[in-house]
Amino acid sequence: MMRHLTLVVGATLVALSVLVSGAHADRKLRVVATIPDLKALTEAVGGELVDVDSLSRGTVNAHEIEVRPSMMLKLRKADALVENGLELDMWIDVAVRGANNANVVRGAAGLIDISRGIPVLEVPSTRVDRSMGDVHPLGNPHYSLDPGLAPVITQNIVDGLARVVPEHRAVFEHNRQAFLSELERRMGEWTKLMEPVRGAKVVVYHPQWIYFLTRFGLLEAGWVEERPGIPPSPQHLVRLVRAMRDEGVKVLIYAPWNDEKLATRVADE
Ligand SMILES: [Zn+2]
Repeated sequence: MMRHLTLVVGATLVALSVLVSGAHADRKLRVVATIPDLKALTEAVGGELVDVDSLSRGTVNAHEIEVRPSMMLKLRKADALVENGLELDMWIDVAVRGANNANVVRGAAGLIDISRGIPVLEVPSTRVDRSMGDVHPLGNPHYSLDPGLAPVITQNIVDGLARVVPEHRAVFEHNRQAFLSELERRMGEWTKLMEPVRGAKVVVYHPQWIYFLTRFGLLEAGWVEERPGIPPSPQHLVRLVRAMRDEGVKVLIYAPWNDEKLATRVADE
């Protein structure tokens, strides 16, 4: 009965907000996301009220996206822009400058930075900047790989979308709750699935898995990269291979855009 009631209330909210007139009432909100993870989460929150486009695909390194004119065209018509922040997708500033759209510039209501409130891991204890080649100067920006952080991320999306169309906040909030309930069910399954490998040590190519590993109780024993974004020196690789042998590390995680040959060589040794 309770579930049925909730559905009815939800449907009423949607019906009400369709009736509310406003600048965007006659069409969907046009949202652009920098990376596909954020597109999926924005669609979960925005539902029928948004049309979301991602500026990049999941098969490329989010740190190194090349800004193209097609991105500026998408941004020119956008009502809102969802960014990862923590300098992962800082290339977006160049694209926004070229788009000349006041809706999505820094400080505009339509710019949604979803890193707000994230407990950031691996914040450097000494001063680090990009001139040293380190691509994680503000701490590790790959938090969207941890499904357990979805409540924080989706709250930022609700707040951001509601800044642009305040009359739809209740619908966004309702969609978010539905999404989080489903996610909670899946988290139960995933946690059970990961239980047998809890405590296992893994080596990663680029340090992008720490949020995911921490969530499911795996331990990060080292990186193939010397520092985030910096290729390894031969000495670093020797140390890494030795540590992997000593600590009995059997897993090395790498992404499609990493140097597969190098990853395989390290794993074989
Ligand atoms: Zn990174």
